[in-house]
Amino acid sequence: MKYIDEFQDPELARKLVEDIHATVTRPWALMEVCGGQTHSIIRHGIDQLLPDEVELIHGPGCPVCVTPLEVIDKALEIASRPEVIFCSYGDMLRVPGTGRDLFQVRGEGGDVRVVYSPLDALRIAQQNPGREVVFFGIGFETTAPPNAMTVHQARKLGIRNFSMLVSHVRVPPAIEAIMQSESCRVQGFLAAGHVCSVMGTGEYPALAERFRVPIVVTGFEPLDVLEGVRRTVRQLERGEHTVENAYARVVPPEGNPAAKAMLADIFEVTDRAWRGIGVIPDSGWRLAARHREFDAEHRFSVADIDTREPEACRAGEVLQGLLKPHECEAFGTACTPRTPLGATMVSSEGACAAYYLYRRLETSGTGAKQPAQATAPAAVNAPRTPDGTSTAPASAPLEGSPVV
Ligand code: SF4
Repeated sequence: MKYIDEFQDPELARKLVEDIHATVTRPWALMEVCGGQTHSIIRHGIDQLLPDEVELIHGPGCPVCVTPLEVIDKALEIASRPEVIFCSYGDMLRVPGTGRDLFQVRGEGGDVRVVYSPLDALRIAQQNPGREVVFFGIGFETTAPPNAMTVHQARKLGIRNFSMLVSHVRVPPAIEAIMQSESCRVQGFLAAGHVCSVMGTGEYPALAERFRVPIVVTGFEPLDVLEGVRRTVRQLERGEHTVENAYARVVPPEGNPAAKAMLADIFEVTDRAWRGIGVIPDSGWRLAARHREFDAEHRFSVADIDTREPEACRAGEVLQGLLKPHECEAFGTACTPRTPLGATMVSSEGACAAYYLYRRLETSGTGAKQPAQATAPAAVNAPRTPDGTSTAPASAPLEGSPVV
């Protein structure tokens, strides 16, 4: 297959679903790591096509959702300063900090701008030599390389009024933390394909072996997700636990060596707090000491900020797969995309946003699933625009979304 719409083919989807039904003999719980996969699953109704024995647990792979409240509050503090132009992806503007968000800072006169690339922020710095330009650098292994490249460029071009508020996170330590949790029910992982397109698959065999858990590198279209589920279930039924690459059209085993070299030059591994989850050892990147002059936290000294999470928000449990979004009491009432209590409701990759956007109020065990032969994924059959985009979703995500 060569084109994206071929990975949404209803007939092929039906065959994969039938194969999964024929393979499964007992209950299995699989976690899709990435919020992009969660949205694909909910949008296309993939979970409803699977056998009742296969439960999909939504993982923590949404970069906006896991950015710690303390970092959001630091962003708010920096963005409030009159000398600062604060640049961010659009998703971050609605994420609630302690008491307010970046939109409110903009409403109060702060110069907060939405950009689509960190290089846009660097260009703004060149155009405004009398101002301090700060880029909000968040995300997983996918967004970290272009951010690293931007710091490299800033140094090369001698741009001194540019800095970055860095909160990058890494997937493998998160998988390790999930498997070590006493409440963990995950028996197999659909690993995030775009993360592996950068980092390759080399970090996963040790995890698969240590926790005796299959890890299948998976893409984001309906056939990608179904093939990931099929391979994971097949391994589980056979008692195997290896790493498979079901996204080979994008992921070479070694990843992207140039991107990895750039990461190693600009960043260093550090412990990192994940919003709603807590500190995970070695799960993040920060600017290496030799690049400290580009570190916004160092430049603006924003330590000792008092943070407070809303008590009603249970996003931490959602991010660990312990709670489905609609099981949160605030879902759809006190918490909506217009009045979000947590980042998982406002991010374009957030699980709460997916459930709200696609009106998903029931999941497995409630009789909501359809028989395998009944239908292909809902949005696969939905009307399409000429570019192949489904017209099924009720609304669009915010502009300028980062990816895992
Ligand atoms: S529905 Fe809202 S309050 Fe509940 S967990 Fe999700 S973001 Fe938090």
